[in-house]
Amino acid sequence: MKSYTTESGKKLITVIPGDGIGPECMDSALKILSAAGAPLEWEECLAGAKVFKAGNATGVAEETIESIKKTRVVLKAPLETPVGYGEKSANVTLRKLFETFGNIRPARELPGIDTPYRGRGLDILVVRENIEDLYAGIEYMPTPGVAQGIKLITRKGCEKIVRLAFELARAEGRKMVHCATKANIMKLTEGLFKRTFEDIAPEYPDITAKHIIVDNCAHMLAKAPEMFDVIVTTNMNGDILSDLTSGLVGGLGFAPSANLGSEIAIFEAVHGSAPDIAGQGKANPTALILSTVMMLRHLGEFEIAAKIENAVVYTLEAGVTLTGDIAPKGLKPASTSEFTDAIIANFGKSATQLKQREHKPLQMPQVSTDAVLVKTKERKVVGVDIHVESAETPDVLGPQIEERAKGTPLKLKIISNRGARVFPLTDGFTDCVDEWRCRFVAREDGAEVHDEDILTLLQRIAVGHRWVNIEKLNEFDGEPAYTKSQGEE
Ligand code: NAP
Repeated sequence: MKSYTTESGKKLITVIPGDGIGPECMDSALKILSAAGAPLEWEECLAGAKVFKAGNATGVAEETIESIKKTRVVLKAPLETPVGYGEKSANVTLRKLFETFGNIRPARELPGIDTPYRGRGLDILVVRENIEDLYAGIEYMPTPGVAQGIKLITRKGCEKIVRLAFELARAEGRKMVHCATKANIMKLTEGLFKRTFEDIAPEYPDITAKHIIVDNCAHMLAKAPEMFDVIVTTNMNGDILSDLTSGLVGGLGFAPSANLGSEIAIFEAVHGSAPDIAGQGKANPTALILSTVMMLRHLGEFEIAAKIENAVVYTLEAGVTLTGDIAPKGLKPASTSEFTDAIIANFGKSATQLKQREHKPLQMPQVSTDAVLVKTKERKVVGVDIHVESAETPDVLGPQIEERAKGTPLKLKIISNRGARVFPLTDGFTDCVDEWRCRFVAREDGAEVHDEDILTLLQRIAVGHRWVNIEKLNEFDGEPAYTKSQGEE
């Protein structure tokens, strides 16, 4: 684990108290860390509302970035993006800047938290890819009425998160990893995630590896969540599944998280800054305290982590000192600081309802930083998709586009609209929009398509039509690297 040790032999971390209830939760977490004897020192740094309001559009102060580069470990409370400031949240700035590719969300049944699943012993770890997928933020509007987002999935990104999931399973003594994808529909993007999982799984013979379609995963999480141990998945799937699993065990107020990168680790509660209760001593600091437990394990401080975790669970189990969000009717709600003091008073006591795990140091996966991770022996361009903006109907547009390709080495194969073939004409009911994908292939069977052929065709189409985008159709080692439209032969 990468960390910074001070002259006094303690580990230095960056602490971001954040906004709203953030500072109250952070005071509680730091008081508990000190009382537990955690060998830590911290630098308190700024990010969030104050930084935006001071005119920094990233929401993260320069000194904070310098501190994180040095300490490599961050404990962070929720941050706010005030309305009218900044385009991206400070959380996104941190995630992108420090490439924290793995979002780790444990969901574990806690005593005293009433849920329909109580008694099933849920203890699920969702491992979500945190950088790629639709969240890469690559979006376009090729016509005023059509918006597109690129679902970016890379072999490198998949390898990192899949390996991390297996390593986490080993570090926590877990026995099964489910890979949840929509590979049955998105064969290249989600399919790459699934194929990477299947390639890597045999390297971990001590762990059972299973694939599950993500919608079935959601269904089974609602029906029989105890069947899951670790779930690894893509960014968008993971965003939804990890909130679902938090819901199973009592909601976001109890959900800790870690954002792990090869260099930097950021630990935080999943909930937001709850401005409606800020500064009133009503905040429940459990999620941030459990995030410090994850941080301590990351730093190799297993005994202190277990001491704090046991005291938190014991306090919930005892059910005497509880914050307002969880105090049952008839029990006077405790303030954030009273709850904190109760946890400290419970150090050394063992929770009866806590499944104890043997934690081992996590081996962060080593994936090559080489930009070219997948090498092919053979590659060939076999066609091109040219996207055209047009208000015509397919019966008019089709022959016009066919005409443009006449006399070139390319021929029009199909035109599709919203993913379905519309030319050659079909008897389908496609409700067309003004963005048409015109697919051209080599006139001569099996011939390679060259750049000059594509450029000539593009120039011809530009006479009379507005082309808005193009994509080459590649074949890598004889395998098509593109999908077919609905209705394409
Ligand atoms: P939220 O802050 O999580 O709060 C929603 C409600 O949940 C609160 O009003 C409060 O409900 C309850 N709650 C949440 N955490 C609690 C805690 N620790 N103790 C007791 N009650 C708690 O969600 P939001 O209102 O959607 O977001 C508020 C701000 O936080 C936004 O600016 C958002 O962008 C930001 N945010 C930041 C992060 C982050 O930094 N990681 C994450 C999410 C949201 P009651 O009304 O019942 O008191």
